Amino acid sequence: MHELGITQSIVEIALRTAAGQQAKKIHSVTLEVGSLAGVVAEALEFCYEACSQDSLLEGSVLIIEEIQARARCRDCAAEYPLTDLLACCPVCNSAASDLVCGEEMRIKEMEID
Ligand SMILES: [Zn+2]
Repeated sequence: MHELGITQSIVEIALRTAAGQQAKKIHSVTLEVGSLAGVVAEALEFCYEACSQDSLLEGSVLIIEEIQARARCRDCAAEYPLTDLLACCPVCNSAASDLVCGEEMRIKEMEID
């Protein structure tokens, strides 16, 4: 289950950030996840609870915001939301496209004391 490894790095980054700001408590961590990042939100939340125990993160909430993947057509340069990887351009029907976003995963913000 690769969500565990992902969660561990999120927790690590969050704790390091909090330590840098001399936080006493972390209330929530907001995570942006691209729709093509290949992670299951429920699994992340489950692992987060386990990974955050006995740390500043204990009791905090993991908020997951999904970012809709977008592609740019190589033929007509139209940008369109990518709901599945085999989608064609809605303007010219070309299948040649580049991914604009959708695979990223990063901490967007943290609420700390
Ligand atoms: Zn096109």
